[in-house]
Amino acid sequence: MFDKLSERLSGVFDRLTKRGALSEADVDEALREVRIALLEADVALPVVKDFIAQVREGAVGEAVVKSITPGQMVIKLVHDALVKMLSAGEETATAISLNAPAPVPIMMVGLQGSGKTTSTAKIAKRLAERQGKKVLMASLDTRRPAAQQQLAILAEQIGGRSLPIVPGEPPVAIAKRALQAARLEGFDVVMLDTAGRLAIDEELMDEVAQVHAATNPHETLLVADAMTGQDAVTVAKAFKDRVSVTGIVLTRVDGDARGGAALSMRAVTGCPIKLLGVGEKIDALEDFHADRIAGRILGMGDIVSLVEKAIETTEQEEAERLARKMQKGEFDLDDMASQLRQLLKMGGLGGIMGMLPGLGKMQKQLEGKVDDKIVKRSIAIIESMTPKERKHPDIIKASRKNRIAKGAGVQVQEVNKLLKQHMDMSRMMKQVSKLGKKGLMRSGLA
Ligand code: GDP
Repeated sequence: MFDKLSERLSGVFDRLTKRGALSEADVDEALREVRIALLEADVALPVVKDFIAQVREGAVGEAVVKSITPGQMVIKLVHDALVKMLSAGEETATAISLNAPAPVPIMMVGLQGSGKTTSTAKIAKRLAERQGKKVLMASLDTRRPAAQQQLAILAEQIGGRSLPIVPGEPPVAIAKRALQAARLEGFDVVMLDTAGRLAIDEELMDEVAQVHAATNPHETLLVADAMTGQDAVTVAKAFKDRVSVTGIVLTRVDGDARGGAALSMRAVTGCPIKLLGVGEKIDALEDFHADRIAGRILGMGDIVSLVEKAIETTEQEEAERLARKMQKGEFDLDDMASQLRQLLKMGGLGGIMGMLPGLGKMQKQLEGKVDDKIVKRSIAIIESMTPKERKHPDIIKASRKNRIAKGAGVQVQEVNKLLKQHMDMSRMMKQVSKLGKKGLMRSGLA
């Protein structure tokens, strides 16, 4: 399926080959294909719509770096937006929280067959092995024949403990007994595997809500089968509306599920995906990594790394070019704009300043004073100048200042301030370049 998609997207790349900033037409053309890709990956339509609109807004006008095409650039932007949406801005995988007094109750909810019992055992094993936790497992599934035995068998397989079965005991009573036993026997964690049904019904939801109220779980993990795509999302929403789900365990990600469910799930429920089930074996559990899922949804990993490399190279080349000019004591307003743009991208002066000798201290002084809004305004002012003005700032007198201020939508004072800043900076560059040479001479390297 991804082969088809790759083909279609390469078609887009071939058509879009010009350089410069991304135009609306470039972005729209590439996004049309991305939209189909997302729908084919089983992302819910409203989520796709929102997502595409977001990417479009951010992408138009974005610079296309050397050696890649606008289409490839759009893919990279789409990938980054997917990662952001899947991780809600959190850098690392969201682990299960055990930050509560022991025994920490973890409740597992979900439909029958979603992989709840298997995931319960997988998580218990992981907590025991990786964090040295003593885990008690209890099945509250009194409906499905042999469900309680299934968990007991799994517990034995992983060398863990499960609550002894008392026939006929209702779910809430089992949960309370599990907590009590865990308290008495010094367990760190109690995993409560609730019953599922083939579909959402009132009785199931009531039971889940009752167990939740009786045990006040620290984590309520919803187990959802990725293979069921958008149905899984509907189910997740129903559970979320009834009990406070704290995280999602997405199972059967090893199948040919296309990952779209993950994106919809995150967007629709707002709950973080915490773990992925990737097989029937008890070890087949992975931390959730947004970039892997994004790659799966888009299926364009090669392009993403290609663009990342191209961006890195371009930035490096630009930084080196600037550093060379500065060392020669040349620094016009184009260079200043270029540096400001880098600054916005890198969020610091490190890349450029770090290349100049003797600048460590100044670098520290400048950092922390960088305000995005001011930087953007400065760039706008420079962009309102003619190329000649940028090369020779000394020709900028009153009438030119007025025109530039108008063009950038700022007061004339702002233009003056920027010109003064440029003068200060270029003076500083000259000094630094002298200092650098002297320093090099003293160290015997020049
Ligand atoms: P429950 O009814 O929700 O408790 O579901 P089970 O834990 O009994 O799982 C149902 C079936 O799905 C079992 O055959 C499991 O081995 C299988 N299963 C669970 N998780 C995964 C997974 O991540 N990948 C695959 N391929 N199979 C899984």
